[in-house]
Amino acid sequence: MAAAAQAATGSVVTARIDTAALIDNARTVAARVAPARLMAVVKADAYGHSIDIVAPALYAAGLRDFAVATVPEAVALSQLLGPDSGARILCWLFDSAADLTACTCAGIELGISTPEALEAAIAAGRATGRTQDVHLKLDTGLGRNGLSLSQLDTVLERLRALAAESSIAAGAQATTGPPTSAPMRVTGIMTHFANADIPGDPATADQLHRFDSFYGRLQAELPSDLRADDLRVTLANSPASLSLDPVPGSHVRAGVILYGLSPFENRTAAQLGLTPVMTLTSRVLNVKNVPAGQGASYGLTYRAAHDTRFALVAGGYGDGLPRIAGNRGEVTVRGRRYPIVGRIAMDQMVLDIGPAETGGEVAIGDEVVVIGDGATGPSAEEWAAWCETINYEIVTCISPRVDRIAVGAPGEAAAGEAATGAPPAADHTRGGGW
Ligand SMILES: *Cc1c(COP(=O)(O)O)cnc(C)c1O
Repeated sequence: MAAAAQAATGSVVTARIDTAALIDNARTVAARVAPARLMAVVKADAYGHSIDIVAPALYAAGLRDFAVATVPEAVALSQLLGPDSGARILCWLFDSAADLTACTCAGIELGISTPEALEAAIAAGRATGRTQDVHLKLDTGLGRNGLSLSQLDTVLERLRALAAESSIAAGAQATTGPPTSAPMRVTGIMTHFANADIPGDPATADQLHRFDSFYGRLQAELPSDLRADDLRVTLANSPASLSLDPVPGSHVRAGVILYGLSPFENRTAAQLGLTPVMTLTSRVLNVKNVPAGQGASYGLTYRAAHDTRFALVAGGYGDGLPRIAGNRGEVTVRGRRYPIVGRIAMDQMVLDIGPAETGGEVAIGDEVVVIGDGATGPSAEEWAAWCETINYEIVTCISPRVDRIAVGAPGEAAAGEAATGAPPAADHTRGGGW
């Protein structure tokens, strides 16, 4: 595996990425969804956790199935894992006018949501003389990306024409030269749920029903020369992976739960048996006594009600901490919560730590837990509530200025293998039941 996480820059605001928790979460999910298998969604820099840390850690634990959104993400992941990794990488969001040959050459699978995207995949296969693998992505009710019924008709018609051309070409080749392969092949079928985070929502049952009828049709109509024997069928995202029983499909495409975050509004990560992977820390850079009436930060939107102390903490919206959390949020210093007072600025925030006699011991240089697991510091879910958003957005928006530092030994959670001296992850066999 090529590798290595980005070098740390020495940023004061730092995201510790607990790879042991990551692997534990992944194993918990894999056990929940079995016999379906886990495809790990590592788009958007692994939801802000650093794909350079997350993907190699999952790979070292034996996982081989990955998904991202965009082509550049997929190509970068393929390079990160290396050409002989045996990993399969799926992506589904791209401009069908773009050149996809880098995908074809790297063996990356493309989710196809329009007839135009199918043409682009065929063109990439032809341009490279290889086969571009695709998953047909069906819109079963989300109303976002995916083939509509009439787009699916167009795609099936195109595939029938292509199969006819390919078999004629193959017939000609049989007498004149080496066999050619078809420029594309269907290796999977997918759809995406709208409301899986609301267990029991009828929209999910509707989508499942529609998927079944699409799937039956594809089984009947996909030209056999242009499809893999073992089609991968993926429907479930994180909330569906945890709430549907049985979990539909051959694999789940799970993202946020791998990072130890709950996809449900009313259930915590701990209740789901998940451990948050990211801990975002900072430091106290200043502590000062201030008189009653002192304002805090731009706009002076907070004023001290009595003589107190303000502590300055590195970290602001330039690090991805939303400005809206000013006068709402809290952070933890030495195990105690303190309010963020006044506006969060680009680079810094102010805490009112109370007068010295209230006992809050805060000193310059103290570590601040900005995002923790709820006990060590505010959870991503608490931040989401303060910021009127979801935990996904909180962690994904932590900016590149923040160093991601891996902690926990990657692969250690898969220690069965290490302890018994089994070969390390470079072989292509699947580790422990993914
Ligand atoms: C982001 C995404 C996922 C993963 O969603 P989670 O809720 O994080 O598990 C799966 N499928 C598609 C199409 C996505 O865009």
